[in-house]
Amino acid sequence: MITKKSREEIKLMKIAGDIVAQVHRAMKDAVKPGVSTKELDEIAYEIIKSNKAVPTFLGYRGFPASICASINDEVVHGIPSDKRILKEGDIIAVDVGATFHGLVGDSAWTYAVGEISEDNKRLMEGTEKALMAAIEKMVAGNTLNDVGGAVEDVAKEYRLGIVRQYGGHGVGRNMHEEPFVFNYRAGDTTILKPGMTIAIEPMLNLGCDDVYEHADGWTVSTLDKCASAHFEHTILVTEAEPVILTKLAQK
Ligand code: MG
Ligand code: MG
Repeated sequence: MITKKSREEIKLMKIAGDIVAQVHRAMKDAVKPGVSTKELDEIAYEIIKSNKAVPTFLGYRGFPASICASINDEVVHGIPSDKRILKEGDIIAVDVGATFHGLVGDSAWTYAVGEISEDNKRLMEGTEKALMAAIEKMVAGNTLNDVGGAVEDVAKEYRLGIVRQYGGHGVGRNMHEEPFVFNYRAGDTTILKPGMTIAIEPMLNLGCDDVYEHADGWTVSTLDKCASAHFEHTILVTEAEPVILTKLAQK
């Protein structure tokens, strides 16, 4: 069942989303050559805690950290480590969730480490554009097929592979709620309605669509070792324009 959120729940999700956005603002400054993904995780943990929220990922099905940090060919769910040091030319996807008074904000962003290749620039630009095109379709009356189709069209324009085993999801009292959101035209006729809150998260690849899970039970990488990017926002469907809940609040 897809739940519609109350005004009070949406208020709390906006606060959770603002905390997540604060983490991303800090990541933008912190990501540079020589920094470990463990250090990034510690920064995220401190920001979430100092805002009196709970790191949603920490302990989720046993996940050991507050962020997922996925470098280059890693797609999602990379585990932060003091042994994973960022180097010039890498790209890193940071995914983070914060729970505030029981409500979740979920957002991912991919960052360039120093100067990156033209291909990686195309990958990042295309994936961010795919997210924004999908968000534009998050209008009451549209279907999830319209949303996935928007991602598919931008992926094609940028000549990028689409990760198909993972996708967006309802979010609110739980990090993962119904519906699942495909990042391509999967024929899903679910109609968007005001009050639905859904995380949209295209994962696009420089190479083929296929991915595999590492022996650690978490990290997902591309099968062909090509780089992958991930961008995500939590969105509220309204009677009018879609609202991005994981943006910095206007104070
Ligand atoms: Mg996420
Ligand atoms: Mg998500």
